[in-house]
Amino acid sequence: MLNYVETISKELLIAASSSIQQEEVFVRIMYNKIEGASRETIEALQLSRLRETVERVYRLVPFYKKKFDETGIKPAHIKSVSDVSNLPFTTKKDLREHYPFGLFTTPMDQIVRIHSSSGTTGKPTVVGYTAHDMEVWTEVMARSLAMGGTGSGDIVHNAYGYGLFTGGLGFHYGAERLGAAVVPSSGGFTKRQLLLMKDFGATILCCTPSFAMHMAEAAKEEGYDLKADFRLKAGFFGAEPASKGLRMAIAEAWGINYHEAYGMSELIGPGVAASCIHGNLHVFEDHFLPEIIDPDTGTVLPDGEEGELVFTTITKQALPVIRYRTRDISMLHREPCQCGRTIVQIETIKGRSDDMLIVNGVNVFPSQVEHVLTKVEGLTPNYLIVLDKKGVLDKLEVWVEVDDRTFADGIGALETLKKKLETEMLNELYINVKTKLVEPKTIERSVGKAQRILDKRDKG
Ligand code: ADP
Ligand code: ZN
Repeated sequence: MLNYVETISKELLIAASSSIQQEEVFVRIMYNKIEGASRETIEALQLSRLRETVERVYRLVPFYKKKFDETGIKPAHIKSVSDVSNLPFTTKKDLREHYPFGLFTTPMDQIVRIHSSSGTTGKPTVVGYTAHDMEVWTEVMARSLAMGGTGSGDIVHNAYGYGLFTGGLGFHYGAERLGAAVVPSSGGFTKRQLLLMKDFGATILCCTPSFAMHMAEAAKEEGYDLKADFRLKAGFFGAEPASKGLRMAIAEAWGINYHEAYGMSELIGPGVAASCIHGNLHVFEDHFLPEIIDPDTGTVLPDGEEGELVFTTITKQALPVIRYRTRDISMLHREPCQCGRTIVQIETIKGRSDDMLIVNGVNVFPSQVEHVLTKVEGLTPNYLIVLDKKGVLDKLEVWVEVDDRTFADGIGALETLKKKLETEMLNELYINVKTKLVEPKTIERSVGKAQRILDKRDKG
């Protein structure tokens, strides 16, 4: 099959490569040279792809035609990339209302794969791929893994779940494309995972951050020496938010470079953005056009301002999405990155807007709570946020596991630790948080996406 890269017009490819030719070393780790191209080159490519996509959905999907007609917009009105902001939004609700295949632009005989989102926040949504879409997905996954130098000779231990969830198969195809050997271990069975990682000499680990931390804890318990017994050099962690503290703890525990992977099934799966060796999360904007909006008004916000991420897919065939509201909170940056990539960066996802807790008028994301926990000595990053009601007010309590040593130190040490933690919470989050220190290993571990919130409030 034709490599997707070859379908980019020759002219654009030449322009893209000439701008970074001098940076030989970066070209090696850039799977596709477009990542280091000039803004003009990137935008020219985006514009032609955006026009094609808008034309396509208008012609083939009654839902989009109706919505565009209602706002008076025609595909011909797209004259620049920023004109994307004149198009109407698409939401998860729209996808659900057209369950299962109502927004596909291709007949079913062209669909070669069907996946579904993990349904973290309700009924799952269904997504489909043509052979061309599979090629795009494989390419962006290869580009993600290439950011950590993955290639032939690497053993990629893939502990993302295989199945309807896009994580497992997404990473699988990307790693194979780079010539690496993939171990499709999927989630769960922690002890067996550790054994295989050690015996097969895994060099790259792919899983959720919570599972990476859980495996590190389990490895220590099993008596492994994390640095001497394993050959890991890098990990690609995503599918859920992770605070800076947790990311550092994982990198430190395993002695590896931490790379982040970001994506969602509605857009393609993982492979929308990945972080480079300098820790900057680059969006593959030649396939996914990002915007940041004010989640309340829908207004587009400038670079550097925090808001909701919105993406338009510009190369998807089966299920293109126009201005998809991700509900993920982030911001855009366009400063040059030391890795040589010029493609836009997003700030690490703070959380989903629907995960945001409002406690006595103050906005709090679980990842902020986690960040405080990882800064306090004597605690583990295993925690649960318990929400309850006290009269009309929301009450937020954080249960957190102490480490074995602190637990053995007895009540006095625990009291001091609790006070310290509550002071840190107040300093960082500007609210009073009640904390409860619990025994090591009492909070349930997750093998996929972690569940960090227990909502006991009466929903009636
Ligand atoms: P679901 O919406 O059912 O969980 P997905 O499995 O497609 O479906 O998950 C996509 C979501 O996972 C994203 O919208 C985002 O909230 C979260 N996510 C994925 N990668 C990251 C990441 N690197 N950091 C934070 N959150 C992430
Ligand atoms: Zn970079």
